[in-house]
Amino acid sequence: MISVSPLVAGFARFRAQHIARGDVVYRQLVENGQQPKILIVGCCDSRVDPALIFDCEPGDLFVIRNVANLVPPNETEDRGYHGTSAALEYGVCNLAVQHIIVLGHAHCGGIKALMEDGGSSAHSYMDEWVKLVDEARLSVARDCAEASAEQRSRECEKRAILVSLQNLLTFPWIKRRVAAGSLQLHGWYFEIESGLLLAYNDDTACFEAL
Ligand SMILES: [Zn+2]
Repeated sequence: MISVSPLVAGFARFRAQHIARGDVVYRQLVENGQQPKILIVGCCDSRVDPALIFDCEPGDLFVIRNVANLVPPNETEDRGYHGTSAALEYGVCNLAVQHIIVLGHAHCGGIKALMEDGGSSAHSYMDEWVKLVDEARLSVARDCAEASAEQRSRECEKRAILVSLQNLLTFPWIKRRVAAGSLQLHGWYFEIESGLLLAYNDDTACFEAL
């Protein structure tokens, strides 16, 4: 088993560089509180850390990470532990973020699981979770029957982003702000191997390089 001591050493370096020196960014974030204007729904994948790939500073991003960067629909029943929805509510209603970016990526393990067994394993939290975007899997099966398994996964990763964008609009406090023009929704996709960042363009109905 590897040791976690590199993290302790890393924290010591971070502390020496930022905290111990009285870094003004951290001091202001404590005094003024966090005021991020951009919320990102990203994947747990260790290769797709939003703050790293967008070269952001502390306080810039309010980040929600879950398996396959999914947004569930609004649900009105009281039961259940809605971690992603709670974080969305806090970001939108309390922090008043102005942008929500659903950030998908290539080679997503969550989407791979969905494509391979349709999220059908019994007693798997992950399989149940990825079924949220089963309509993306079904539409890829319908439209891309001739494509390779890899190509179908890449396509499903992108279509799942669109399902999450639709689900964002089922939350009344998001729909209201989007209609009023105080909140914008974005679907982005990080192609790890090419290093390209693609954005969904509503007008062309395509993902295009930024
Ligand atoms: Zn992923």
